[in-house]
Amino acid sequence: MTEVVYIGLGSNLDAPLKQLQRAVTELGELPKTRLTTLSCWYRSAPMGPQDQPDYYNGVAQLQTELPPLDLLRQLQAIEQQHQRIRGRHWGPRTLDLDILLYGDQFIDLPDLLQIPHPGLYQRNFVLLPLADIAPALEFPDGSQLAMRLENCPSEGIVRLSSGDLCGTTG
Ligand code: ATP
Ligand code: CA
Ligand code: CA
Repeated sequence: MTEVVYIGLGSNLDAPLKQLQRAVTELGELPKTRLTTLSCWYRSAPMGPQDQPDYYNGVAQLQTELPPLDLLRQLQAIEQQHQRIRGRHWGPRTLDLDILLYGDQFIDLPDLLQIPHPGLYQRNFVLLPLADIAPALEFPDGSQLAMRLENCPSEGIVRLSSGDLCGTTG
């Protein structure tokens, strides 16, 4: 069974845009998976500890036959390939890959996997790129992306004009 999945990508260390571009290639190479659409990249001030560089974020749409936990393991393996070091909570990282949505499923495995991602509705660096690629999106709880955006401040975030890095990947 193929599901439409949205992955949040983030980086603020070691040439973030290069990290993100490499991650996009790696997402496209996952087994049983096709990368279907990619948002623009966005830059914003860090969440949590402020003594770290700005973050670069975007969202990719995948179609996958991987079950949720297999997908999570694959994403964690990609993070490892980017030499991600786990330090303090919300500290700097070369690459963060979060499963935002997995079809219209709700998954609640505390500390392991929660879908929709718990930060989804509060984070402009997730909602804005989602709106690039799926403006009419309806969340599993029936709420609309447009409504969620209205309730999420968008100051302090910049969309990068990155030409061919935005939009459908084919
Ligand atoms: P946040 O989750 O608030 O964005 P973070 O991305 O910095 O914070 P991590 O340290 O990357 O958090 O991940 C901590 C744990 O979150 C992971 O070990 C993973 O098992 C778990 N997790 C729960 N739900 C998800 C999800 N939807 N996508 C990715 N990881 C998740
Ligand atoms: Ca995250
Ligand atoms: Ca994460």
